[in-house]
Amino acid sequence: MRIGFAPNIEDIVQIFNAGKLGNIQLSQKGYISTDQFLRTSIPNIYAAGDVANPRDPCVATAVAQGAIAARSIQEDL
Ligand SMILES: Cc1cc2nc3c(=O)[nH]c(=O)nc-3n(C[C@H](O)[C@H](O)[C@H](O)COP(=O)(O)OP(=O)(O)OC[C@H]3O[C@@H](n4cnc5c(N)ncnc54)[C@H](O)[C@@H]3O)c2cc1C
Repeated sequence: MRIGFAPNIEDIVQIFNAGKLGNIQLSQKGYISTDQFLRTSIPNIYAAGDVANPRDPCVATAVAQGAIAARSIQEDL
């Protein structure tokens, strides 16, 4: 059983606000919202791993999402 976890994103949101990069869109549960290729609502900002609310939050998922985000960065930039 896995209970009581919440995404640790307060600092990230503050950094984006301070940098005037725009508001990063969050899900109702407070995770960073992304599209299927891990793009956030802010152009050229990507989210992977536990903060992006994977269905299966584990090391394998976080690493795989890192690879997906890297591919998106390659395509976008
Ligand atoms: C008790 C426990 C047991 C687990 N057991 C397993 C297991 O057996 N197998 C498994 O696959 N998964 C396990 N998990 C889940 C796994 O740890 C996570 O899914 C995985 O680590 C997610 O990787 P991540 O890179 O998204 O996040 P994290 O590994 O949490 O990495 C995020 C990093 O960002 C850093 N950070 C946060 N805020 C800031 C900031 N403002 N500035 C700079 N750095 C910052 C943190 O210090 C951390 O190093 C377990 C989790 C917990 C809590």
